[in-house]
Amino acid sequence: MNNYFVILAAGKSKRFGKNFLKQFFKYKNKEIIDHSVEKSLKSKLFKKIIIVSNNARYLKKKKYPKFVTIIKGGKERSDSSLNALKFIKKYKPKNVYIHDAARPNFSIKLLKNISKNLKKNKAVVPIVNSRDSIKYKVKNEVFNLNRKNSLLTQTPQAFNFKELYKLAIKEKSKINDEASLFLNQNYKIKFIPGENSNNKITYLDDIKTSKTFHGLGFDIHRLVKNKKLFLGGAKVPFHSGLKGHSDGDVILHAITDAILGALRKKDIGTYFPNTKKYKNIRSPKMLKPVIENLYKSNFSINNLDINLICEQPKVSKYRNKIIDSISKLTNINKGLINLKGKTVEKLGLIGKEKAIACEVIISITKYE
Ligand code: ZN
Repeated sequence: MNNYFVILAAGKSKRFGKNFLKQFFKYKNKEIIDHSVEKSLKSKLFKKIIIVSNNARYLKKKKYPKFVTIIKGGKERSDSSLNALKFIKKYKPKNVYIHDAARPNFSIKLLKNISKNLKKNKAVVPIVNSRDSIKYKVKNEVFNLNRKNSLLTQTPQAFNFKELYKLAIKEKSKINDEASLFLNQNYKIKFIPGENSNNKITYLDDIKTSKTFHGLGFDIHRLVKNKKLFLGGAKVPFHSGLKGHSDGDVILHAITDAILGALRKKDIGTYFPNTKKYKNIRSPKMLKPVIENLYKSNFSINNLDINLICEQPKVSKYRNKIIDSISKLTNINKGLINLKGKTVEKLGLIGKEKAIACEVIISITKYE
């Protein structure tokens, strides 16, 4: 196992568009660089892991295991790579893997496949086909490049150390990856399938981050004779209706409050106070602007779970009707809504069929 893993992390992230370095940006609950460190450690393929970075002081605080070494980077990527090769020379490595920290999504399976192929080859490089059409320009003319013949090289790329060292020392021009050194000399490279998910993070837009929030809603209204009963926006035949400043729809009120809770925007009473303006307002009218606000802020609803607490009417009888109505009002798939009926053993106001209560929990996610 005389293999060494080099992580190049000395880039200045000029195109990343944030005021800090890309390699330390939090992505999938970890800093981008740590995805590479952890996977290389976990693979147990390497004697040493070398991080090439100009932020040694920051990295040392992370307390990586002893065989993770941090060395200084150079001006360009190829300078940093050469620094690493010079540094590990004294250990007489058999193979060296060179990897860009900006590719956090490679798999351990890929590392193992590279390792297997290194047994019979001096250079192993993962490639994928381009998913976009490629053109190339010569002076003012633009030509098509056959997509099938266009190969995109990824990292980690792995090499016999002696061969790579010899070529890297000789090379005078700046190169984008180590595979170029071998290609320039017409040396054989074993290309293996790369991974589409192992794309390079260059721009902040390349990273899809998401934020999930939960919200809780509760409501209760008294039942009165000679009033229509609305539950979840649906009319339900019953001897009484719910008393309130509005139509008393406990389900829609609890949903509205749950959404406001998840959005951290106070409560339904803040936006619809008991004033003349909102007297006898239908509850879908209160839910609508809140839902619109939710979608305008780029959130989507993951699911909605509802407990309707009453002796009568029987929830099972009207479940589909109520869920249909909520689905239409919230513009979400019926499959994301669950409605449970809960009785209270004839206890209290609810047990005596004098009130209906409802509680709701919602989960929402924003993709950035
Ligand atoms: Zn209410």
